[in-house]
Amino acid sequence: MENADTPWNSLGLSPEMLEQIEKAGYKSPSLVQAQAIPLIREGFDVLASSQTGSGKTAAFVIPIVEKFKNKNGTYILALSPTREIAQQTGAVFEAFGAPFGLKVAVCIGGASLPVEKEALASSPHIIVATPGRLCDHLERGNVWLDFIQCLIFDEADRMLEMGFAKQIDTITEQIPKERQTLMFSATFSTAVEKLARAAMNKPKEVVIAKSETTTPKIEQKLFWVSEDRKLRELIHILRQDPGTMFVFVNAKERAYQVWRLLSNAGFDSATYIHSDLPQEAREQAVAEFKSGKYRVIIATDVMGRGIDVDDVAHVVNYDVPREPEDYIHRIGRTGRRGLTGHASTFAIPGKDDRSIKAIGKLRGVEAPDAPEPQSADSRNSRGGRPPQRNQGPAQNSRGPRPDGDRNQKPRGPRPEGDRSPRPPREQRPRQDHAPKHVQPQATKPAEVAMPVKKAGFLDKIKSFFKR
Ligand code: AMP
Repeated sequence: MENADTPWNSLGLSPEMLEQIEKAGYKSPSLVQAQAIPLIREGFDVLASSQTGSGKTAAFVIPIVEKFKNKNGTYILALSPTREIAQQTGAVFEAFGAPFGLKVAVCIGGASLPVEKEALASSPHIIVATPGRLCDHLERGNVWLDFIQCLIFDEADRMLEMGFAKQIDTITEQIPKERQTLMFSATFSTAVEKLARAAMNKPKEVVIAKSETTTPKIEQKLFWVSEDRKLRELIHILRQDPGTMFVFVNAKERAYQVWRLLSNAGFDSATYIHSDLPQEAREQAVAEFKSGKYRVIIATDVMGRGIDVDDVAHVVNYDVPREPEDYIHRIGRTGRRGLTGHASTFAIPGKDDRSIKAIGKLRGVEAPDAPEPQSADSRNSRGGRPPQRNQGPAQNSRGPRPDGDRNQKPRGPRPEGDRSPRPPREQRPRQDHAPKHVQPQATKPAEVAMPVKKAGFLDKIKSFFKR
């Protein structure tokens, strides 16, 4: 951590707080602490660029504890993107707040709701929560936010990338406008700026350093395809790019359907999650994806939001997201840590045209017009590139890759019980109970096992989203 030349005792903190800081072993303030603490103490809204490890948590905890140490009531709310970050932030508030009698309640997914409800009922001074979990408590009437005087968005970019925009709006609407708002974010995307404009009042900016990671590079491609051709494109991408992949779909049945199609095509390194699966099965699927057992995870926006995965090599929008903002959140899963990410979107001409325009508008780029519905596929099957099999080593092989799943020739269905990602039989939708679009003809192996002859392939790729 880069430290400022400023000594702690020049930041206007009380002797008691300086004592706590000394106990924590912080010899001198970090850069973000030296700049943000005086502004926060003076009561300004502060918008700070800060990476994890910059000391950002103490940068807001120390001055906020100072400000509220003699007040009784639930005045402070900190929103965190993940359980782990919420727990860490809760611990820092506890360390600096407890000596001044401040109590903290941490509300995170996966913990016991009644226990959290009790903690909320005990009038904590500080609530640290993930947005989704806090909304659960709000809906149940377990908490009111009328008294909040200080709202903190920690890792705002990550919260938005995880798709928490709606929950954040719901929460922010319930907090009095007369408040101090602090926002810490490693990157400043359009979505972060939009949130800052909506939630903050003339914020003072604290900019520490722009690292590579502040401008993620994502190569974005649009494929105009019919529904029938999506699987073929997906398999082609899987062969081209051997890294980890997040495949987004618009409905929970679709998650199963796409997994089934891939599975029938002989691709057995995919798993999926949807909200009808038991929590345990979902957690297992995510853990196995994270551990590298599976290379691909198929999920809806709602489910995808809860998956704390730092980076994937490729995001595929198998379905164009309904909300343009979801596009930004989905693709935010790739291109982290200064690496180039890839995002591919499958759009159906005549159906997704408007959504594609809306995404282009949100990103400030002009989206191309869709081809005539019938011409999209005919272009795909004219002339062009031979099937690409057994390619050389990948240029972008960042994610863990289980052996043997790359460059496979599509195969017919394998015997039951051969693929472990499936949840137990009783938890799976039975074919005869499956929704219409999961009917047998949609999963015919013959249809998906055809060699991928990429005729006119380059033609139909439009990298209109290029930054
Ligand atoms: P953060 O960026 O908030 O995740 O903090 C990263 C780590 O830096 C944590 O382990 C903090 O305890 C530690 N830390 C925060 N401020 C200081 C400081 N001024 N001097 C030394 N370590 C610090």
